[in-house]
Amino acid sequence: MKKALVVFSGGQDSTTCAALACREYDEVHAVTFEYNQRHAIELESARAVGQALGLASHEFIGLGPVLKGTSPLVSDAPLGQYASAAELPAGVEPTFVPGRNILFLTLAANRAFCLGTGNIVIGVCEADFAGYWDCRQVFVDAMAQALGEGIYGDTNAIRIHTPLMRLTKAETVKLSVEVLGERFEEVLALSHTCYAGVRGGCGRCHACLLRDRGFREAGVPDPIWKFRKEPVSL
Ligand code: ZN
Repeated sequence: MKKALVVFSGGQDSTTCAALACREYDEVHAVTFEYNQRHAIELESARAVGQALGLASHEFIGLGPVLKGTSPLVSDAPLGQYASAAELPAGVEPTFVPGRNILFLTLAANRAFCLGTGNIVIGVCEADFAGYWDCRQVFVDAMAQALGEGIYGDTNAIRIHTPLMRLTKAETVKLSVEVLGERFEEVLALSHTCYAGVRGGCGRCHACLLRDRGFREAGVPDPIWKFRKEPVSL
């Protein structure tokens, strides 16, 4: 019995990862973190996607306002609005939450231990680096080693799988089409990415612009566009 635990936000990337894990593992569990994020609507999406995929279990861990910083995701700072993806600033994106994936992977490793698996799947991606230091392979490798040593006394005991690490957003879209097949629209329509918490996406935040660009480059309409206030086209 091959088991995996997916770190699952309910966004496009983690939805694709969870679908992929369902194809590759016999039993897929997920964990979703509530950390007082501005876009708490993603928790409802995570629940809906988890149910649609028929996960073996899906735990929501309420952390409350434990993560602090200047990111608009966890503070009152204004969320950046941009006219297009070309206008996104270089360097560390202001939405970066320091230590977030360190915390999430640490707790995921605890739950993976309880489930009796060393396989953790997370949808981080270097192609959308955006200065998120904790989305790079070098970080994930270091984290896997530290967690393996800290939990099993074995550097190689925990494998953190990052199937999207080298993919562009467009390639991730194509992967989700391939994995979900005829269920692609149904499942992706349930996912949520927008940092502003707008159902269907605000179309102006960092997360929306990257998601929109990926679907356009893939030549695939995003199923969430039907909820968008302003009409969107490829
Ligand atoms: Zn948005």
